[in-house]
Amino acid sequence: MRLAILAASEEGGQPLRAGRLLAAARQRGVKATAIDLTKQKLSDAGVGVDIVLLVTNDYPALLLMNCKMAEIKQEFAGAKFFCTGPSSHFNRARIEEKFGVQVLSSLDDFTVIDGACGGIGLGLRGAGHVVPERGTFLPLKAYGMAEVPDPCANDPYDRPFQSRIQGNIQASIGCIHVCKYCGEPAEDDRRRRSNEPGVTKAKQSMLPREVILADVANQVKMGARHIAITDADAFSFPTPALGNIEEMHRVHPDLTFEAVTRVDHIIKCRNDLAALKRFGLVRVTSSFEFPSDKVLDAIDKGFKADRIPVAIDLCKKAGIQLKPTFIPFNPWLTADEILGLPAWLEKNELVSSTDPSQLCTRLLLYKGSLLLKEPSIQGLKLKEEEWHWEWEHPDPAVDQIYKYVVAAAGPGKR
Ligand code: SF4
Repeated sequence: MRLAILAASEEGGQPLRAGRLLAAARQRGVKATAIDLTKQKLSDAGVGVDIVLLVTNDYPALLLMNCKMAEIKQEFAGAKFFCTGPSSHFNRARIEEKFGVQVLSSLDDFTVIDGACGGIGLGLRGAGHVVPERGTFLPLKAYGMAEVPDPCANDPYDRPFQSRIQGNIQASIGCIHVCKYCGEPAEDDRRRRSNEPGVTKAKQSMLPREVILADVANQVKMGARHIAITDADAFSFPTPALGNIEEMHRVHPDLTFEAVTRVDHIIKCRNDLAALKRFGLVRVTSSFEFPSDKVLDAIDKGFKADRIPVAIDLCKKAGIQLKPTFIPFNPWLTADEILGLPAWLEKNELVSSTDPSQLCTRLLLYKGSLLLKEPSIQGLKLKEEEWHWEWEHPDPAVDQIYKYVVAAAGPGKR
């Protein structure tokens, strides 16, 4: 039996979930390989493959699978095909009907491997959390260099930045929050409603520290000098999160880190920010969505807009760069409010750390989004597409502005 795991790049570089599935498969004694469809050729998966497992963690990965499926079926003709990852869980019926691919919806790596490989003759080798295997992906360098603030600089926006080879880790799975546009609570909701085996009360769980440290050590050996902590939210549980970063810093004092976290968690960690900077945390990415209570309340974000400047100020004082993300094109804002975002960035000195694509991001109503149950969304003009719902803003001028900014930004900046 030979298994090929096909995935797309994840934040910070190599596909982490596919690396974990590869490790789980090998622990079960399955001959397996994993490749990154965004970077590698299908033939890199080798010959004699009889089981193919596609991993679609997010919407772009689902679209990639949709585009490449004919080619994949041709390359691995005669193999059995399976698919896993939240985006495919939300689209199970369509995927099974269109591609004849069985969707395996467990979040547990060993359960997915057993589902794909039949569990026959695999025994009970391996269980629990595994360290991702990364040896069959392209080297970290192939994912480009991270441009990171100098960890010794007082002003984290001061250039030049340092170019560092980047690795990525996950220190926790899931998220304790319920922002209604986000895939994390939507997946949690789907699992609970489907009574899937193994569903626990915990919406977010930390991985064991030894697993995280082993993954970091592997990537340092591969040349990593900067680690992106890709958890949905890195500081939901501040004490273990701080302990992990302190320990990674103790073992690898030259590493720098970046993490994703919420505005209210930055504020909650206010007394730890200086220590985090000393341990090498040079940047945090935080979804502001939009500095307006109208938007934050509509998506159940869990904090108010007046908290955003507090978080900005705390990061500035700690010397940690803050990289905000936004969804300005949403149904709750007026054209004037959307057009005011660049001035707001200027006022808050965030222009240099905001990716220009954030000014033309539009709310995505993917299949499975919790927002689809909301009256404010149900009242919009909606059109069902294959993998998502298109929506129209109540003011057609906003959709015109959106078309204009997307065209001006160029392909892929949406
Ligand atoms: S905090 Fe972030 S990851 Fe968690 S539900 Fe909200 S948007 Fe999603």
